[in-house]
Amino acid sequence: MTTVNILGRLRIATEQVRKVQSSLAKDGPPDQVEILGKVGKELDGILYNLVDILSDDTRQSEINITSNDGQISKWLEQTFSSKPQRSTTAASRFESIKAVIQASSFVNALQRQVRQNAKERLSAVLDLPVDIYKLNLWSFNMMEYDEPFVFSILLIFDAHDIISRYHIDIETLKNFCRALTDGYQKYQTPYHNDFHGADVLQTTHCLLIKSSLMNVFTQIEIAALLFSAAIHDYEHPGLNNGYLVKTKNDLALIYNDFSVLENHHASSMFKLLRDKRCNIWSNMDTNEYRTFRSLVISLVLATDMANHASLIERMSTYFYFKETNSTTPSADSKTLLQTLLHAADISNATKPWSVYIQSAERIMEEFFIQGDLEKINYEDRKPTFDRESTDIVQLQIGFITHIVHPTFDVLSKVLLIDSLDYAQKESKATTNLSNYTLPWQYDLQLNLETWKQISRNGDLKKMIAKRKPLKLNYDYLQEYVEKAKTVLRKRSQHDLLLNCALSS
Ligand SMILES: [Zn+2]
Repeated sequence: MTTVNILGRLRIATEQVRKVQSSLAKDGPPDQVEILGKVGKELDGILYNLVDILSDDTRQSEINITSNDGQISKWLEQTFSSKPQRSTTAASRFESIKAVIQASSFVNALQRQVRQNAKERLSAVLDLPVDIYKLNLWSFNMMEYDEPFVFSILLIFDAHDIISRYHIDIETLKNFCRALTDGYQKYQTPYHNDFHGADVLQTTHCLLIKSSLMNVFTQIEIAALLFSAAIHDYEHPGLNNGYLVKTKNDLALIYNDFSVLENHHASSMFKLLRDKRCNIWSNMDTNEYRTFRSLVISLVLATDMANHASLIERMSTYFYFKETNSTTPSADSKTLLQTLLHAADISNATKPWSVYIQSAERIMEEFFIQGDLEKINYEDRKPTFDRESTDIVQLQIGFITHIVHPTFDVLSKVLLIDSLDYAQKESKATTNLSNYTLPWQYDLQLNLETWKQISRNGDLKKMIAKRKPLKLNYDYLQEYVEKAKTVLRKRSQHDLLLNCALSS
């Protein structure tokens, strides 16, 4: 049993104790209610301590410095502590997320208007193929554009005032975008290339603007988050950690088998930044840069899928505390940043089918190339992904059900999303967030239902036009999208009828 399992079971047990306590609170025997209250508190305490241990990987290396001399303590802290300096505490910020979002959505709409007017000028001056309006859409398809980093980094960094705030030179930024693209194209991988990097950047940007979280995080946190999103798979070789470890690859030996790829992405990126021509952060103040670098490293390392379960459990537990306790424990904003980036990284299945299916095809081809290598070089009869025998439909259903769905579920709870797509259509500024829909809700359901329809009725041979390299039959698959739409339509009618019946 893993720590995450224990944490999950403990959280459920605590929830049950709290439920029994509140149901007995009115007319149950007072002494028993009191005991249950104490047990609940004790369990809360244990849970809190466990989450704390799990969530802050840097805590162990921190030193508590108490000194009357402000200068000395500041110097000691800066020299010996890895703790990033923050203007406000993470806990108070996290607790106030809801309040901030509700209060700020109107101000936000106004600010957006002002900023977007300025953005239009930028795309006109730089002759970019898209403007920020397009990049604000959840349904944006990065694969339709060449050199995606050039316009997405320029426009998104500018939209969050990163370029002006950190005095980034535009020529240096262009050099950086070119070098970043070269790194992503180094191994000519079908999926983990510059399209994926730019897509994760754009999706992270959407998560920020659609949730108003940009008013909750500090400027350095937003800069670190967006930068991490862009660089998180820099120099990806198209092979996974398991393969690199198994084959005793140089990278696995350098990083002692620990988050091998993620360590490489972060490390090689900071090496690139040593080159003056590419160092977009050269004007950042030294202390800020220390915070920035430490955040970027922890964000990129958290994209290792091995951290998925613990990340989701940590977010769920925070939510449990937020909902049930007035005294919410410290909820690390770093965990929230890590969850946002992780969600953006696995967001393909939450996009419209036509966008999603292209990336699904590419990632599966990349897996199959690894499978081919395993067969040829290591005579592995049962490679992780075998292009001849892997059931693509079940693979996608499993990934959506066990990874994508839980991630976006917990994220939906955390974020009170004001869907910009919706707001733009309605052009209404309202604080009633229940009127908005989450941009990913429908497409995630539809994509999952489509695969289920295929697995029920589909002919796998007709679905796959070619195995080497993998080509999916898009026209054939489209039939099932239509079938799934009908199913969802019926289901929502059914739910509607059910709700009416219950409320009348
Ligand atoms: Zn990625």
